[in-house]
Amino acid sequence: LYDRDGWIWLDGEWLPWRDAQAHLLTHTLHYGMGCFEGVRAYAGPQETHLFRVGEHTRRLLDSAHALDMPVAFDAAELIEAQRQCLVRNELRNAYLKPTIFFGAEGLGLRAKGLTVHVMVAAWDLGDYISAEAASLGLRALTSSWARHHVNISLCRAKTNGHYVNSMLALNTAVKAGFDETIMLDPEGYVAEASAANVFLLRDGVLHTPEVTSCLQGITRDSVIHLAREVLGIEVRERRITRDELYVADEAFVTGTAAELLPLRELDGRHIGARAGAPPPGQPIAGGSVTAQLQRLYHRLTRGEPSEDLAAFRDWLTPI
Ligand code: PMP
Repeated sequence: LYDRDGWIWLDGEWLPWRDAQAHLLTHTLHYGMGCFEGVRAYAGPQETHLFRVGEHTRRLLDSAHALDMPVAFDAAELIEAQRQCLVRNELRNAYLKPTIFFGAEGLGLRAKGLTVHVMVAAWDLGDYISAEAASLGLRALTSSWARHHVNISLCRAKTNGHYVNSMLALNTAVKAGFDETIMLDPEGYVAEASAANVFLLRDGVLHTPEVTSCLQGITRDSVIHLAREVLGIEVRERRITRDELYVADEAFVTGTAAELLPLRELDGRHIGARAGAPPPGQPIAGGSVTAQLQRLYHRLTRGEPSEDLAAFRDWLTPI
């Protein structure tokens, strides 16, 4: 990652990629207090656009506010920095990582006078998820690591330090031969995957955990809109137990990078077996609700002109 061409935005200035270094005593490096976003840009038929950059930027500033980190830039300035980051780096299909962090004015939990910095880096993502991976989906293991509790952390904030917990859970599952992990909240209800929200379909109704321990995902929100408003499917946000995933007709995870990936197996249970779904290792059925939502999300994010998605055009910000 170090040695390449490109530009990174830091506090209103453009740094050549190779010179974009932070001091070793950067506070956020030591205590994990900071916040970030993952945002996507897509090459559309005519133009490149950012997808829901307004919502991502709002969540970023909300995270900083919740962490009590004052930011010197407003949403419009940060959106412009993200646009310019694509232009300067000549990117079309890209992933952007705006990040807010403390400087190196002091160490320790009581450090005073810490400066708050904002950076935006972006890189080419191409087709991050292949069509094959999107139809084969994931085999997951329920984690022994609980997801955050609302009284232990700020679950609405996308905080750097939260990802220690995500990585412990993901790494345990990957070492055991799985693709992903499903994390439960401290009461034992389903929270989310390591970096994605989770949905299940049962008897034609979609269910997803309410936003307590899980992140308030923007893809989650997009999928709820698409399901309700385009497919006419009911969506319920509520507490969900892990066995509801075992006996679901379909399940999938959502996230900016993952988009919408089928969850095919959990703890060795084939999800959807009783509803006639193909086994893990074979593509999901094209007519499944998961596949329908995948196609809608794909068309929407790539800016394909179509009548059924016209209501969501303002989610795309042209570059
Ligand atoms: N949960 C966690 C823990 C995440 O890191 C992410 C990715 N940002 C998500 C859910 C999905 O959120 P979004 O759809 O906004 O990317």
